Amino acid sequence: MECLAATHCGDVAEICGAIKVQTRTGHLIHNMVRRLPSAPTYLYPFPTDMSAPPLDILALAAHRDDVEQTCGGTLLKMAQLGHRTGILDLTRGELGTRGSAEDRAREAGDAARILCTSWRQALDIPDGRVENTWENRLKVVRVLRQQRPRVVILPYWKGRHPDHYTASVLGYEACFLAGLAKLDVGVDLSVAAGDSPARAIPTVERAAHELSAGRPQDSRQDAGATGLLPHRPFKIIYATLYYDVRPAFVVDITEQFEARFQALMAYKSQFSDQEAGKGIFPARDEIRSRIESMARFYGMLGGITYAEPFIQKEVGLVEDLTLIPVKSI
Ligand SMILES: [Zn+2]
Repeated sequence: MECLAATHCGDVAEICGAIKVQTRTGHLIHNMVRRLPSAPTYLYPFPTDMSAPPLDILALAAHRDDVEQTCGGTLLKMAQLGHRTGILDLTRGELGTRGSAEDRAREAGDAARILCTSWRQALDIPDGRVENTWENRLKVVRVLRQQRPRVVILPYWKGRHPDHYTASVLGYEACFLAGLAKLDVGVDLSVAAGDSPARAIPTVERAAHELSAGRPQDSRQDAGATGLLPHRPFKIIYATLYYDVRPAFVVDITEQFEARFQALMAYKSQFSDQEAGKGIFPARDEIRSRIESMARFYGMLGGITYAEPFIQKEVGLVEDLTLIPVKSI
């Protein structure tokens, strides 16, 4: 099993470090200091950083630790390639059998650092009651307009847990609404960390930054003097690991598997062996076996060791037939 040398707790700097590349959108990732601020980014009042460039990839999920389980390796891999990644958790996990919302907030920060994400926030949607309401869609719209991701990763639209499949539809509809030029969503946003009201992103500054960064200028119209500029992600993909469905493609996470597992184990309140929820939660060793089995299965489909599965609704576009990966026979 080949994996990163730096995949143990405390070696995060090595995982994230030495990244100095020009990203697709022209952002220069200077060094690990940019990726690993001293405080967890998810705790910053919203907005986190007025001068921060837009995210390249935003993963949205119902619960803290969902992203770690379904697409954590992919997010880490994208960060290692120099992309700015972010995670939006719709809920704070206050109904969980184990641990409190505060425990999970701290653990989510630890996991985010292991995955080298640039941004993480939780909304104040009630745990166990993710509903596709207008109000909730607007909360996601505000995040999309502020973080302006090119790619959004959503949960698959079918599943056992209602929060998961509802988050999928809610996320998709928010992506659509976020691009409507005449939809003014205002600037207030309640977030789990501090319930700080959002400030408006200065229209001119943000637009100028995006122009200089060469980002797509979709739906780029003024949404009002105090509003956030419209933005529609270019691409939406669905993380399917929670559901038994054949993926459209898999991402090779062979080199990220160990770190991704450590990110999940950062949720000590959930996954350490303990009395609370003993009948519901598998033991830690069993979790490791299950996660490895799943990653190996999807890796096998792609002809590699470990992978995470995804679906896209669009067809694949091919330029050169000789470069299509995955052996047929
Ligand atoms: Zn979940």
